[in-house]
Amino acid sequence: MSVSLSCHRCGTRYDEVRVRCACGEPLWIDAEPTTFTWDDRRIPSGIWRYEDRLPIDRPEGVARAAGGTPLVRTPGLDDVAGGRVFVKDESENPTGSYKDRGSSVAIPHAVAAGDDVIGTVSYGNMAISTAAHAASLDRECIVFVPEGISPVRLELIAQYEPTIIRVRGEYGALYEDALELSERLPISVLVSDAPTRISGYKTALFEIYESFAPETPDVIALPASSGGFASGVWLGIRELERAGAIDEPPRLCLVQTAAADPITRAFEDGSADPTPMSPEETGETIAHSIGNPDPPSGARALAAVRDTDGVVVSVTDDEIRAARRRFAVDGGFCVEPASATTLAGVSRLADRGGVAAEDSIVLVPTGTGFKELGTGETDVTTETVHGADLSDRLESMLSPRRE
Ligand SMILES: *Cc1c(COP(=O)(O)O)cnc(C)c1O
Repeated sequence: MSVSLSCHRCGTRYDEVRVRCACGEPLWIDAEPTTFTWDDRRIPSGIWRYEDRLPIDRPEGVARAAGGTPLVRTPGLDDVAGGRVFVKDESENPTGSYKDRGSSVAIPHAVAAGDDVIGTVSYGNMAISTAAHAASLDRECIVFVPEGISPVRLELIAQYEPTIIRVRGEYGALYEDALELSERLPISVLVSDAPTRISGYKTALFEIYESFAPETPDVIALPASSGGFASGVWLGIRELERAGAIDEPPRLCLVQTAAADPITRAFEDGSADPTPMSPEETGETIAHSIGNPDPPSGARALAAVRDTDGVVVSVTDDEIRAARRRFAVDGGFCVEPASATTLAGVSRLADRGGVAAEDSIVLVPTGTGFKELGTGETDVTTETVHGADLSDRLESMLSPRRE
C-alpha cells in the first residue's frame, strides 16, 4: 500500500509520513479506496471455527472470544532454540491463558446439562478462566483455593465475583473430593482433565496446523503440569491422523519445572505412570502454574510423548528466568514463567542434538506475564533527565550512532 496522509480539517494531503498538518491538526493515513466484501462473516471465529468437532454448539458470551490466537514467526529466538521458532501466543485469550479454550466448552456444556453451580479447584489461570466464563453465563461459581493464596491472585479471581473458599489442610486431596462433590450435589466441578475441557484444548493444535498448511511443524513445545493441555493437543493430533490429514505427527516436547517433575521422571524411567511426588520431594518454583506433583492426566501426557516420538524435559528456575527474558527482549512477548519453560526446554533439547537447524519449532506460551505483578523478577534500569536537558542528553546518546 502506498502511503498517503490527509488532514481531516483542511483536506491537505501528504505523501510522506508526518505527524501534523501545516494547519496544526494531527494527520491520518488514508488507505486506497476499495470495495469491501464481507463474504467470510458467517464463518465463526476462534475455536468455533471447528464447531463441528466440538461437543456443543457455539454458545453466547465470552466463550466466543476463545482461541484464534496468532502464530508468530520469531527469528530472534532461533539461536536459543536451535531451529526456526514460531510462537503460538495463547496469552491472547480473553483471560490471558489457553485455559479459556477449555472453559469456553466445559462451562456452557455443564450449564446446558442443568448444573446450576460451576466450581473449580485452582488458584491460578484455571480459577480465573472458570470464574469469567461462569460470570458470562450468569452462573454461580465456587472456587476452592489454598488458604495461603497470594493477595494478587485473589484479586485476579475476585474481579468476576465467584464465591471463593479458602481450603485449610491438604490441597492436593481436593481433586478427588471435588469429583465426588460433583456426583452428589448440583455443582459441576470442572477440573483440569474434564473431557469437555480437553476437547476445547485440541483446537490449539488445529489452529497451528491451519497456520502452517501446506507445511507442517516438526516440534511443538508445551509446559505440562496436570497433563490436561498435552492431552488435548494429542487428541487434536489423533483426529488429524484419523482424518488422513497428516502422516507424521509433530514431536511433542513437554516441559516441567525441576521443582515438580513427576512426568519427566517417569519418562526417563520408562514407566507408563508417573509416581506422585511427596511434599518433601516437591520444591518451590517461580512457575506457579505448573507445580502439580500428582498429575491426573500424567499417564496420558506420557503416552502422547511416546506416540509422537517426543520428549519430556525439566528446567530450573534460573533457566526459566533466562528464557522469560529472551521471550521479551528477543521476541517482544510478555509470558509467565510457566510458559517460558517452553524455550528453556527446547534449548536443552538443542544442546543434546535433539533439534535440527531446519526444524520448525512451535513454542506455546500458555499464559500472559501481565498477571504477575510486583514479582521483583525484572531488573529495572532508568535514568531521570530534566525536561530542559532532554535534547542535550539525547544528542550525546544518539549522535555517535550517525558517524
Ligand atoms: C494450567 C497451565 C499449564 C499447565 O497445563 P496442564 O493442563 O495442567 O498440564 C501451563 N501453563 C499455564 C500458563 C497454565 O495456566
